[in-house]
Amino acid sequence: MKKGPTVEFLEAVGSTVPKSQPRTGWVISDCPFGPWKHENGKSSDHVFGIRTTPGDAQANCFACGWHGTLSDIVLELRRLVKLNPLATPDFKTAGALALKAQEEFELELDTPDIEEMLFGPKKDLHVFPNWWLESFPLWQDVPFAVQYLAERNVSKETADFLQIRADSNEKRVCFPVHDFKQRLVGFHGRSVLEKTDLRYRMYLQSGKHNQVVWLGERWVDFEQPIVVVEGPFDLAAVLPVYKNVVSPLFANPSFEKLKRMAPAFEWITLYDRGKGGDAGREKVTEALGSDYLIHHLQPPDGVKDPGSMSPSEIYDTLKVVLPKSSLAVD
Ligand SMILES: [Zn+2]
Repeated sequence: MKKGPTVEFLEAVGSTVPKSQPRTGWVISDCPFGPWKHENGKSSDHVFGIRTTPGDAQANCFACGWHGTLSDIVLELRRLVKLNPLATPDFKTAGALALKAQEEFELELDTPDIEEMLFGPKKDLHVFPNWWLESFPLWQDVPFAVQYLAERNVSKETADFLQIRADSNEKRVCFPVHDFKQRLVGFHGRSVLEKTDLRYRMYLQSGKHNQVVWLGERWVDFEQPIVVVEGPFDLAAVLPVYKNVVSPLFANPSFEKLKRMAPAFEWITLYDRGKGGDAGREKVTEALGSDYLIHHLQPPDGVKDPGSMSPSEIYDTLKVVLPKSSLAVD
């Protein structure tokens, strides 16, 4: 992209603006308030966006939630530097450029908003009503669910955290799926029967579901590395060892779906051994490109998927790329 006043402004306030910019109408960078407002003083380089529409100079940080005009950025930085001089922004240049940038914003019709820019084209998600969810009993009240979860080594704590329920008619153990806004937007069920045409089923509510949402959006922390696994039982196995784990619920999710997790800078895939896993790993590398830190890990020899790994095997696998202090082991 051409280096206009918005990019120069961001550089003056200490941000790094990546060369590849995903959307017209926005300039994306790391957060200029990183040293003060982000853990470890750093944000990923795609969390901060300035919308370049006339008269609407809004800047947003998806991670720390800060928003305001370019002039507000300068004011807030002055305040923070005075309190604690963790960085040395070029206030003179930034102040002048804030005004210049606001005057020079191009006329962009149909500019996507911050969520859309970060997560891809906005489709209205269909929210599942609570009464519908309540029609499925909680796992601990259904003997086949209790038994199946025990067989899969899912602890009570993990089952409760995941709010697992059961479908008594279809004999399925079910995982509610919440979006980033904590809304129930999906319900994913694993059959406990050996012989079934459909092992996993994405439930519809009023004829709708939201295939784009990940299991884990409810608790994911974009400031920390994410571990990405294929399915809900892989996730349930990793969760007690490392909390920041998410699953797209499909072995090979769309690029659009992968991009929903794009605010996370460091990705660790722990997909199944074999061809399906290989295709998934390749797709993540291709979708994210070189601006990200990506590690591809695999279950140890002879183990097919993370769902079949013991907590100590998961610990030993993850400790290669994650600090031991972020991992729990019994
Ligand atoms: Zn921020």
